[in-house]
Amino acid sequence: MLALLLILMSRMAFASLVLVQDGTLQLASPAHGSQVPPAAVRFLLEDQSFDADRMLAPEQDALWQPLPRKGLNFGMLDRAVWLRFNVHNPSAQAGRWLLVIPWSQLNRIEFGVRQGDGRWSEQFEAGYDVHYSRRYGQHRLFQFPLALAADEQATVLIRVEAKYITFVPLLVWTPEAFQQQDFSDNMVYGIAFGVLLAMLLYNLLLSMVLRSSSYFLYSAYVFSIILYELAVSGYGSRYIWADSALMQGKAFSLFAGFSFFCAGLYVRNFLRLKKRGGWLLHLNTWITGYWLLSFLLTLFFTPLLLRKLGDPMALVTCVAALTTTIHLWRRGDVSARYFTIAWGQLILATMAVVLMFEGVLPYDHFTEKAQVAGFVLETLLLSFALAERINRERHQRELLQQTALDMTRQASEERRAKLEAQADALALQQRHTDELELRVLDRTAELERTMRNLELANRELAKLSVTDPLTGLHNRRYFDEVLASEIQRGQRQQSPVSLILVDVDHFKRINDTYGHLIGDECLKLVAATLRQVVVRGTDLVARYGGEEFAVILPGTSDEDARLVAERIRVAIEKTQFIHGGKRISLNASLGIAGRIPVQHESSARLIAAADEALYRAKETGRNRVVVADLAQR
Ligand code: GH3
Ligand code: MG
Ligand code: MG
Repeated sequence: MLALLLILMSRMAFASLVLVQDGTLQLASPAHGSQVPPAAVRFLLEDQSFDADRMLAPEQDALWQPLPRKGLNFGMLDRAVWLRFNVHNPSAQAGRWLLVIPWSQLNRIEFGVRQGDGRWSEQFEAGYDVHYSRRYGQHRLFQFPLALAADEQATVLIRVEAKYITFVPLLVWTPEAFQQQDFSDNMVYGIAFGVLLAMLLYNLLLSMVLRSSSYFLYSAYVFSIILYELAVSGYGSRYIWADSALMQGKAFSLFAGFSFFCAGLYVRNFLRLKKRGGWLLHLNTWITGYWLLSFLLTLFFTPLLLRKLGDPMALVTCVAALTTTIHLWRRGDVSARYFTIAWGQLILATMAVVLMFEGVLPYDHFTEKAQVAGFVLETLLLSFALAERINRERHQRELLQQTALDMTRQASEERRAKLEAQADALALQQRHTDELELRVLDRTAELERTMRNLELANRELAKLSVTDPLTGLHNRRYFDEVLASEIQRGQRQQSPVSLILVDVDHFKRINDTYGHLIGDECLKLVAATLRQVVVRGTDLVARYGGEEFAVILPGTSDEDARLVAERIRVAIEKTQFIHGGKRISLNASLGIAGRIPVQHESSARLIAAADEALYRAKETGRNRVVVADLAQR
């Protein structure tokens, strides 16, 4: 778009052309920035130092040559070049024109006009080796006055020295037209520098705020472009480094190197070449390295090799950058697409400049400003691309974050579900455990109850098994056990054991007289009486059978037993059993056997002895106590 606009502008600018007649430039009035046609110019490479007159002497004519195909670009020269062309003012009035050389990279330009009468008009000097205060017009572009009387013919002679390429575009202007053009040029450059400066500051601020190396490198690149454009346009040497001899001579190559270096770094960063690696990275490293080296070397000295390499390396760099971005674009890199567009148009603009150098395109507004317009456009496009890339990356980051967040949420959901399931299982288990425990407790209690009942029953059973149901005394079985164990103990302790057998006298009669039930009651009474009399804890009273009772007295001699038996007999005799208003009298006979048990003493022997004693008590009249004489046995 911008390029197209510039082409249109340039076409308009070249509406009025200077005419060439018989090799002489016919100066039209008003001449509107017209290029001196190369066909009108002759040149000569300086061999030895001549003065101006000598150069134009007729004998030198043969040395002057028409311009080569490239026109006014002589490339890298190791000597000065001389240019000459004839001008004619066809008008009837005197006229003033300006000859402008709008290429800032020339060391020294000497200018003179030999008038028709052979006199030289004032001679002028320009070029960056000449301080601007000594230049005609003190303008950023080198310019010289061209004053011709009516119908006057003159010859313009120019000597040019250049360290870099000797490129001498020649434009003829009327002073008024030039002033107008200068005004609009200043506007255009003002806007261009304004945009670049705004971009620089804005991106620099962004780089500081966002701490982003991308924005910083981009700012550096824009800065380098500003410096380069200042050098190329001549504004730098006129307004900024006018008094610096170093900068006057080197600004162009320094800043060209610097901007290529910055561009290399920016491409590296913007296209993430380091991450990609491979040949793209190596290419970038080598080219960026070259420009850094070139920049550093230029600071101190400018070797010829470096000057000669400058142009081809610039071309290589452009092609490499374009190749890199197109390659990445084709591999689907969105950043590379914007980059290709941004670089592409700049490279087209640069190509236009190169074509101008080559003489294919004329030096005009388009070719002059194509590059600066390209830079501005590129800067804007790259800034857009950078913003777009950062936005896209942020978007991707947000997407990633969202995905991560979703995954985290999902994971926590799952974990929660798992925990809940675990809790449920645990609760279930707990409930089961509780139920089980409860059941076990129940069962245990039940069991304990049963056990207790069983024990009670057992105890009852045991008691029953050793108790006589009618009298509540111990029964015969228990009596047998106790007697055996007491005999053993008596034997061990060598203490006496006595046994009393008690038999109710004429009991049959009571039964017969009062009935069996009354007999039972009598037996109960006798038992109670025995219990009352025999109170020592170690003694034992038992029902021996029928109406017979037995008393075991451990630790008691038969003599002592007799006292107990006697108390028993008396107590029975004294019982008051009343039936039918009549007292039933009760008596009992008692037989005693007692001694310290001998070796292998048996219960049977003691019982038999006691029984024998009892028998004798019956025989001798009943209601008495008889002690067995065990000594004879
Ligand atoms: P003795 O003076 O010679 O001992 O004469 P006795 O009548 O007491 O002796 P005998 O052995 O002839 O009779 C015992 C009687 O005791 C016989 C029996 O009917 C009675 N008898 C035994 N056991 C019980 C009992 O548990 N209840 C009742 N009412 N009578 C019993
Ligand atoms: Mg009896
Ligand atoms: Mg009896």
